Amino acid sequence: LIEVNHLKKNYGNTEVLKDISAEVDQGQVICIIGPSGAGKSTFLRCLNVLEKPNSGQILFDGQNLVSLKDGKELDQLREKIGMVFQNFNLFSNMNVIENIKLAPMKVKGVSDKDAESEALSLLSKVGLKDHAQQYPASLSGGQQQRVAIARALAMHPEVMLFDEPTSALDPEMVGEVLTTMKDLAKSGMTMVVVTHEMAFAREVADQIWFMADGYLQEKGVPEEFFDHPTSKRAQDFLNKVL
Ligand code: ATP
Ligand code: MG
Repeated sequence: LIEVNHLKKNYGNTEVLKDISAEVDQGQVICIIGPSGAGKSTFLRCLNVLEKPNSGQILFDGQNLVSLKDGKELDQLREKIGMVFQNFNLFSNMNVIENIKLAPMKVKGVSDKDAESEALSLLSKVGLKDHAQQYPASLSGGQQQRVAIARALAMHPEVMLFDEPTSALDPEMVGEVLTTMKDLAKSGMTMVVVTHEMAFAREVADQIWFMADGYLQEKGVPEEFFDHPTSKRAQDFLNKVL
């Protein structure tokens, strides 16, 4: 579904992504882990074309996102890529159901009625159907993040990108969001998840990508990575976090 070839990204003289190549298959769950400053968020933003790489390719459904000019074609590809951020990024001036209906109606031209029924069904999927009329500020962090997931799903993305979706949450809220993500993974959604939740990564990921210093230093199945990391960098990292 996604193929990344020799991706590079600099900010000024700082090389953040040095040479990234990787593939994501349909239905796969990838967890990206690694130390702060490794380039994980930058990589996700490149996948979502929020950031323009300096060189390399990102083939999505065979189309190279890097060489596409801004315009309709790129917008349509972007719609297929859902993104969930650390800080929820809900529209605070809209209630929950308006948040979810907005993009399908505005971008895809879905009718109000269809957007409404889809939004309600997504809300019940994430366990929030009784909160449709509330404003984000009146919800807990865990609830807001589940709304953000529902909002991304309302566009029927082919892949969901998550950038530390539980890092801003109080500890008691982390579980509900991870459960929602687990359900999503079980439903067959393709997911790329930057996370510090090692238990989640071990249980849910098909592959772990360990990123440090702008490279994907290791890629492997969770058991292999967690039990037998090959690079010194990964061993040191795991010693610190496990
Ligand atoms: P964290 O775990 O802390 O979220 P990360 O792996 O997501 O870290 P990035 O946010 O991708 O790391 O940042 C990688 C490097 O790129 C850092 O050194 C950061 O300072 C730099 N960087 C990120 N965004 C920008 C920007 N817009 N302009 C300049 N430098 C940036
Ligand atoms: Mg980050």
